[in-house]
Amino acid sequence: MALKQRVPQLKTKESGLLAQIVNNSPVATFVINAQHQVLHWNRACEMVTGVPAEQLIGTTHAWKPFYPEERPVMADLIVDGHLEQISSYYAAKFRPSLIIEGAWEAEDFFPQFPGGGKWLAFIATAIWDEDTGEIIGAIETLQDVTAQRHYQQQLEQQANYDSLTSLANRHLLQTRLEQSISQAQREGLLLAVMFLDIDNFKQINDTLGHDAGDEVIREFGRRLKAAVRDLDTVARIAGDEFVVLLYAPQSVGHVTNIVRRLIDYVGHKLIVHDRELYIGSSVGIALFPKDGEDSETLLKNADAAMYRAKQHDKGGFRFYTEDLNRDALQWLELKQELHYALTSGQLELYYQPQYSIQEKRITGAEALLRWHHPTRGLLHPDMFIPLAEETGLIVPIGNWVINTAIVDAQQWKGAYGSELRLSVNISARQFRYRELVGLLDQVIAQTGFHPLNLELELTESLVMNNPEKANELLLHLKSKGFSLAMDDFGTGYSSLAYLRLFPFDMIKIDQSFIRELGVNKEEEAIVRAMLQLAKALHLRVVAEGVETQEQRQFLEQEGCDEIQGFWFSHPLRAEDFVKLL
Ligand code: C2E
Ligand code: CA
Ligand code: CA
Repeated sequence: MALKQRVPQLKTKESGLLAQIVNNSPVATFVINAQHQVLHWNRACEMVTGVPAEQLIGTTHAWKPFYPEERPVMADLIVDGHLEQISSYYAAKFRPSLIIEGAWEAEDFFPQFPGGGKWLAFIATAIWDEDTGEIIGAIETLQDVTAQRHYQQQLEQQANYDSLTSLANRHLLQTRLEQSISQAQREGLLLAVMFLDIDNFKQINDTLGHDAGDEVIREFGRRLKAAVRDLDTVARIAGDEFVVLLYAPQSVGHVTNIVRRLIDYVGHKLIVHDRELYIGSSVGIALFPKDGEDSETLLKNADAAMYRAKQHDKGGFRFYTEDLNRDALQWLELKQELHYALTSGQLELYYQPQYSIQEKRITGAEALLRWHHPTRGLLHPDMFIPLAEETGLIVPIGNWVINTAIVDAQQWKGAYGSELRLSVNISARQFRYRELVGLLDQVIAQTGFHPLNLELELTESLVMNNPEKANELLLHLKSKGFSLAMDDFGTGYSSLAYLRLFPFDMIKIDQSFIRELGVNKEEEAIVRAMLQLAKALHLRVVAEGVETQEQRQFLEQEGCDEIQGFWFSHPLRAEDFVKLL
């Protein structure tokens, strides 16, 4: 077909038929001549672009339906033979057609079509003069691929993103991590993989319901995302487990700052179903290249570091170290064995006397839990209380502690004559467990033990985690007649204002302060201030971890009431404690 004369003129009968064919073709098509004038703009093209042919025929405005400002469309570039420019106008979205030789195709999004933006796939090819081989025009077809695109995006979304939080999922994290690793390898960059989960999430879910749990997860994800840069990746990989990939942080110090900021930020008050919550998070960090050179190792090691963080200080963070893998394995084993420990009599209570330095007599004892592990020997509670908290076993174990301690304490009366105070530690999860008060009432009723002689030790951080709620429970316990002690005083954030509001009878100054007595003048001044404050608030004070005569003397001079520590006695088995009495 000699297009040379026919296309530009469209006068003869034959060209009239050709025009009819083009015009009625179901494929959106337009044709321009060598002067870039639009010769054809068929009906399908009108449908796709929403612009009628009259507006364009005879003009050089083929760009108008597509772009806000004048620029060549693909047909224009082909007419001018400027194929090299295709790449600059359709960067990364064009290719030589697979179907028609010499044609080019591309796909792009056009935001300004009436009724919303559309994705179009278009192919353009030149029209040549048969005799001279000269380009005399170009023909371009358009196809609306918006629906396919959306579908594709949906699939991509489902494959790569988590539906609850819209964050990256494990799959996308993996991809990004691998990309980052190869880039970091080439350019010698640092990467930090942080593994996070929400402290006590199971409990939130159990007590507030799954909707609230979902909301907490969503908000947690939002906060993580808001706290890092766009080039970092935040992913949710399971239940309440998140991973943050920090891309090329400047230094390890920098990573530490970011983690601190993250933990602080996610810990801000959160309102879910009209309840105030404070979410804590424990974070484990593995660094590329030091702690692993592939994604699997980095994730595994960050996870192990997180377990360590949880075990030691909830709401804290740990960097991976090599001994962690071994520990993480032991941790899993212990978790399973702890189930049997309680029922098979492997738990025992030790008692550490509290000694009044003013009255020079034993005034009470703290019950400290021990686990006689069949193969690992005697385990201290730091090794397994966090496990018990995590699994919920802390509730039955805590009940056992209270019952056993009271039974033991009733034998002291005979041995000692006067009444002794019995202190038991109450863990966070136990404290929030609604049945705690009921259980205490019950043992008191059964044993006739005087509640004033039962002192409940609650750590400062437990109380400060949610001061209003804690105070409510404390007041309730107080009204039942129990004594209350604030444990590990000085390590949390309690302000003096709070201390005044809480119904505590006693504070226990943390060992970390006592250790510095005689060594560090500043810490001495702090202990002195604590003692004065306690006196002003009519609180008794026990100093914990008193190991030396020097520490004892300092405390005695400064008016501390009681001491507990190796200087007076190590924690003892029940029968040895009775002997001491
Ligand atoms: P805590 O309440 O601060 O208990 C004091 C810890 O300091 C005990 O460690 C005790 O053995 C140790 N200690 C006492 N005197 C000295 C001293 O002079 N120097 C040094 N360096 N340490 C001293 P333990 O028995 O390993 O208990 C560790 C923690 O485990 C306790 O800290 C408490 O928070 C928790 N715990 C112990 N028993 C129970 C329990 O029955 N239930 C719960 N929920 N937690 C418990
Ligand atoms: Ca304690
Ligand atoms: Ca303590």
